[in-house]
Amino acid sequence: MEIGVKFNAIRVVDGHCPGHDCEHRGYISEPGLPIVCAYNQVVIEIVGEPNGEIVIG
Ligand SMILES: [Zn+2]
Repeated sequence: MEIGVKFNAIRVVDGHCPGHDCEHRGYISEPGLPIVCAYNQVVIEIVGEPNGEIVIG
């Protein structure tokens, strides 16, 4: 899948998945609202403070 990153924000550009819900989430930049793609079994979330670390896994 393709991931897009800009300053302290991240989004799924192309999940190659049915429905494309993860793409429709757009950019996330705050903790607590991860992007989940069940099809790819991927969770993308911001950890800690609003300028925190980006974790993909
Ligand atoms: Zn997806």
